[in-house]
Amino acid sequence: MVFTKNDNTLFGLCARWVARKALPSPSVDTYAKILLPLALTQPYTYRVPDRLAGALQVGCRVLVPLGVRKRYAGLVVGLTDEAPAAHLKVRDIIDVLDSRPVLFDEQVKFWQWIAFYYMCTMGEVMKTALPAGLKLEGEVRIRKNPGFIDESDLTSDEQRLLNLLPDRKAMRLSDFPEIGGITTVFPLVKSLMERRAIEVEEHLTRAFRPAIMRCVRLSASLCAPEALTATLNILKRAPKQQSLLLSYVGMADAMTAVAAHNPAALKEVEVARLLDETDSSHTILKALAGRGVLEVYTVEKSRLGFDAQQPTVGLPDLSPAQQQALDELHQALADRDICLLHGITSSGKTEVYQRLIDETLARGEQVLFLVPEIALTTQLMQRLAKVFGGRLGVYHSGFPDSERVELWRRQCSDNPYPLILGARSALFLPFRKLGLIVVDEEHDASYKQQEPAPRYVARDAALVLARLSGAKVVLGSATPSVESYHHARSGKYGLVELRERYGGKALPKIVVEDVADLKYRRMMPSVFSPRLLDELKQALHNGEQAILFQNRRGYAPTLQCNRCGWTPHCERCDVPLTVHQHNGLLLCHYCGATYQMPVACPKCGHTELRDRGFGTEKVEEAVVNSFAEARVARMDLDTTRKRTAYDEIIRQFSAGEKNVLIGTQMVTKGLDFDKVRVVGILSADQAINAPDFRAYERAFQLMTQVAGRAGRKGEQGLVVLQTHQAKLPLIRQIVENDYAGMYEEQIAEREQYVYPPYCRLIVVYVRHSREDLCVGASNWLAELLRPHFGTQLLGPDRPLVGRVHSLYIRKILLKVLPQQQTAAVRQVLWMARKALSGHALYKRVDVFFDVDPQ
Ligand code: ADP
Ligand code: ZN
Ligand code: ZN
Repeated sequence: MVFTKNDNTLFGLCARWVARKALPSPSVDTYAKILLPLALTQPYTYRVPDRLAGALQVGCRVLVPLGVRKRYAGLVVGLTDEAPAAHLKVRDIIDVLDSRPVLFDEQVKFWQWIAFYYMCTMGEVMKTALPAGLKLEGEVRIRKNPGFIDESDLTSDEQRLLNLLPDRKAMRLSDFPEIGGITTVFPLVKSLMERRAIEVEEHLTRAFRPAIMRCVRLSASLCAPEALTATLNILKRAPKQQSLLLSYVGMADAMTAVAAHNPAALKEVEVARLLDETDSSHTILKALAGRGVLEVYTVEKSRLGFDAQQPTVGLPDLSPAQQQALDELHQALADRDICLLHGITSSGKTEVYQRLIDETLARGEQVLFLVPEIALTTQLMQRLAKVFGGRLGVYHSGFPDSERVELWRRQCSDNPYPLILGARSALFLPFRKLGLIVVDEEHDASYKQQEPAPRYVARDAALVLARLSGAKVVLGSATPSVESYHHARSGKYGLVELRERYGGKALPKIVVEDVADLKYRRMMPSVFSPRLLDELKQALHNGEQAILFQNRRGYAPTLQCNRCGWTPHCERCDVPLTVHQHNGLLLCHYCGATYQMPVACPKCGHTELRDRGFGTEKVEEAVVNSFAEARVARMDLDTTRKRTAYDEIIRQFSAGEKNVLIGTQMVTKGLDFDKVRVVGILSADQAINAPDFRAYERAFQLMTQVAGRAGRKGEQGLVVLQTHQAKLPLIRQIVENDYAGMYEEQIAEREQYVYPPYCRLIVVYVRHSREDLCVGASNWLAELLRPHFGTQLLGPDRPLVGRVHSLYIRKILLKVLPQQQTAAVRQVLWMARKALSGHALYKRVDVFFDVDPQ
């Protein structure tokens, strides 16, 4: 080699790479397959420079060049001695970013399966799988290490470069060559990195927060109104200190604490946040600390797990029925990998899971407990924490990214949490020795990721992850999906049924109110039927509670002109706008656009516009108008945007501060209250009439889950179900809790019309801002595909909402039969997409696939 091996600066590496091109390719080189967070179909191959050879493992992140100047952080997904084809120019890896893998072999295989099956790229899987802090999306950015102080032995060039870096901001590596006339910037960056004077900023938007947090608080001696006022007066001569103190007072909500002479009431304020938000410096804070006004202290902060928590209760004693279910689960899992636990609401499935979890942990294996939406599972989290204490870790999409990174790193360490509770993204966490996956509420549609790709179904992906890891799976539900129940019936999965409620609690009684008939008899002046009105009155009178379910947020789904029938629509989407009373706006539920409420019809000028239908806001209004003693809590997307709002609503209702809970499908999930006299389903019709082959199944699941919330300690709860379609067999099935009846009817229809589980669906979506191109491209694609799939190909069709965000949408539906090869089908689809991208007219049309739409 021309350049010395010791020249390990980036510049040296680049120079060596240039030199290598002239030399015959050395045979002993190692090459790495690097996955980049880009929508590329294949990982790229890079050479591992000799000096990194020992340090590199599959699952580590590396810094690589791409194009002329770009640098990316990629993930090593394979290592090989095999040299790539001679005509390929292979470049060198610049550096290794992790000393130990952030991912294990199984995860890489899992990602590959997801990309293959759900028809997306590995880069897209990587983007979904990794928390932002590990992802290094875009180009690598570096910044000053705030902890680096000793600048004494830096060379003058290093010092110059360091000075070029802004104080708190990061800078793209590729931007450096253009600044300050420093031509040999890479060697400087590298050596500064080695000295830890600079660091790679791990992600672009949010600050990385370490587990140890530095916080600041008001000195206890100043926690009195006079003392604080005096201090603020003294600080008049030091305005920067005064302003910092004032900011602190605001952030810590200190006035309340000071008024009460209670330092314990001061809210915790992080130093970094305080300085950031007030644009102050450490010096000013130090000055205030020096004066004894503020104190800086450190706290260990982690909301990921319950490390400090000891289990407070032992494992539950099982009822005979639960014990039998557990025994049957053992048997089923002895010769199968998957078992469905069908247990009616409140049968105590959680208690059975806890036993299985405990047994798995005792074998030294890990458990993943998946729930559809973690934000809605506070009660479950607390139940698990009581039993498993510090062994429980939680992977919560609502947590700051830095905490997710922390949990991720912990799972890679030698001391991972053995039990993880999480939503679908927890599937991507690294597990060392996964023994069991519990998929709770396996029927729930939230297990599907709709946007962006990978559009995966976490329940199904869990089965694959388990197979790759040699783990068992328990799917649990009171209302299993028709597909899972079919697999259980046909023997592919084990099947265990738990048919009685724990503690002899009776199932709620469901009465049907025929709204069509009541309206005909003019007995529905409001959204409440006479029976529901009466039950609500009784409940409030007796100091009991009620839950009202309406799966629509907002005040009313549409507004209509009383004279000409005009209805306002979104300008960018083909949907009517929803009326939101609390802010007096019209809202598009598809793109979020807001519009002013019109005072008159733009078409005919008529000023009488009335709202049609009703959402949760209108229900709230109706309750407040009808019952003076009602204390209403409303739970829908609009009232739970803040992270803590959901928990607060649950707390208020549990504590009896509120006596009526109104909500969308959020109220159906995992809640357990004991003073609910009546549950009102205000309209079952929307769910029943949904234009989807799963509509009846979903309606059954939804109504049954809501109904399960009714019941007081020791007494049968009541459910009033309002519908226009009281005669439908489905309504009888819901009333009688006849899951088997619903299943038999649905599975027969699925077989007859060939829908899952008798086939698998793939939807090809075609999207463009011009309708003619969208339609033309979808027709062109369909004609290209039809010879391959014949009558299994349906469409192209205009979906229910044919335009969203100003993009027109068409879809082609493909039914893949069981005997067809998964890979072959996908290859045809990919080729068709490729062909379209070469089409003169349609090449800019966006095409993507949705496998197993839910
Ligand atoms: P499911 O998840 O099947 O709807 P849960 O597991 O939430 O039912 O159980 C319903 C209620 O019954 C919970 O309050 C739970 O604590 C209680 N419960 C169930 N099984 C037991 C048991 N073996 N010991 C004590 N309490 C139980
Ligand atoms: Zn009009
Ligand atoms: Zn819109």
